[in-house]
Amino acid sequence: MRRIAIVGAGQSGLQLSLGLINMGYDVTIFTNRTAEQIAQGRVMSSQCMFHTALQTERDLALNFWEEACPSVEGIGFTIVNNDEKTKVFEWSARLKRYAQSVDQRVKMPYWMKTFEEQGGKIVIQDVGIQELEEITSNHDLVLLAAGKGEVVKQFARDDEKSVFDQPQRALALTYVQGMKPLSPYSKVTFNVIPGVGEYFSFPALSVNGPCDIMVFEGIPGGEMDCWQQVKTAEEHLEMSLNILKKHVPWEYERCSDIQLNDQNGYLAGRFTPTIRQPILTLPSGRKVFGMADALVVNDPITGQGSNNAAKCSKIYFDAILAQADQDFSSQWMQKTFDQYWEYAEKVVAWTNSLLAPPTPHMIEILMEASRNQTIASEIANNFDHPVDFSPWWFDAESAKQFIKQSHVKQVA
Ligand SMILES: Cc1cc2nc3c(=O)[nH]c(=O)nc-3n(C[C@H](O)[C@H](O)[C@H](O)COP(=O)(O)OP(=O)(O)OC[C@H]3O[C@@H](n4cnc5c(N)ncnc54)[C@H](O)[C@@H]3O)c2cc1C
Repeated sequence: MRRIAIVGAGQSGLQLSLGLINMGYDVTIFTNRTAEQIAQGRVMSSQCMFHTALQTERDLALNFWEEACPSVEGIGFTIVNNDEKTKVFEWSARLKRYAQSVDQRVKMPYWMKTFEEQGGKIVIQDVGIQELEEITSNHDLVLLAAGKGEVVKQFARDDEKSVFDQPQRALALTYVQGMKPLSPYSKVTFNVIPGVGEYFSFPALSVNGPCDIMVFEGIPGGEMDCWQQVKTAEEHLEMSLNILKKHVPWEYERCSDIQLNDQNGYLAGRFTPTIRQPILTLPSGRKVFGMADALVVNDPITGQGSNNAAKCSKIYFDAILAQADQDFSSQWMQKTFDQYWEYAEKVVAWTNSLLAPPTPHMIEILMEASRNQTIASEIANNFDHPVDFSPWWFDAESAKQFIKQSHVKQVA
């Protein structure tokens, strides 16, 4: 039986482990937090996942919360006039198939329990180079799925693929109860406040049932980069409301009766979007293969990290099965990562494009979407498969063509 070790019990590591254990592999997870610590700890993400990523979970029968979790049925987009506190324009469109967000504090502990029930072993250990030496000495393949953990910095930064050397947003999350629901359908309400940042919210399932998640993406040094002074959960909620009142009053109105979902339902921080080389060679010469955020970490502005992690997990799963009894060589690792990168590259390019001030053709596309439902629907549904933003999102001439064709479709 092939022995596989996976470091990290997050979206990608657990999904892959559960897939492999089901196929008869001998899988051990090495991770630095117990299920209980995760369940009782701080929120980690807003983890909104779209249809294709959710389907990779369904395929492995891991969609335990499909019924209980509220659906995200659409995407709404607003550009804010910050001086007048008004909307420059807005649009919204239904998703063809719903998205969902299950709090990782709910999902990961339950997946860990399921993995153990299926015969998997979990070792609680903070893994560094020394531990990797030991783990690689007695496994056929070692995958590092440690997300944003310090250990992933052992993979060399890919200077060609990495665009940034600084965080691009000051991030904050506030999980709340009591937000007024939207009708006729639930959605991600995405507000762009030029020069300040972005605010969006959507329904989710958390530790005590349905909730809403508020996500703040502040431009560094700007007015929404304001979390350092916040010390308590209560202050965090107050700051969240102050931001809404000041910049997006229509969102503030939905929050007149909100309270924190739980004492750990908030987070603030920042990180640098980075791409890393997929293979780590240890001092012994043995290899460790990275996956998901460990190699490709994106700003959450487009809500793609968990989606990418699920899709990466699926690609690696198929590649491991296809390898059967053959060696997991460096060539195989590089080829497997390249297959993932072929997809992830487009997601990174689209995400990065939203971190910079928008180009004139992007503004035109977004504005046209407020007049043309075909465009609005295309943008909203491409969150599930951002590859389809290419080429028109990135190129002025293609954008013109895209708008023209969408008008023809709309009329027809
Ligand atoms: C504010 C915010 C909002 C987000 N919103 C969304 C969203 O709406 N939609 C979306 O798709 N994505 C979102 N993401 C991103 C998403 O959460 C991540 O991309 C995703 O969880 C990555 O999965 P992963 O498996 O690579 O890593 P993770 O899920 O982070 O798992 C890493 C695991 O490794 C373990 N670990 C770390 N270091 C070590 C070590 N040294 N030894 C052993 N174990 C270790 C950790 O404990 C953890 O179990 C958001 C992220 C942030 C920060």
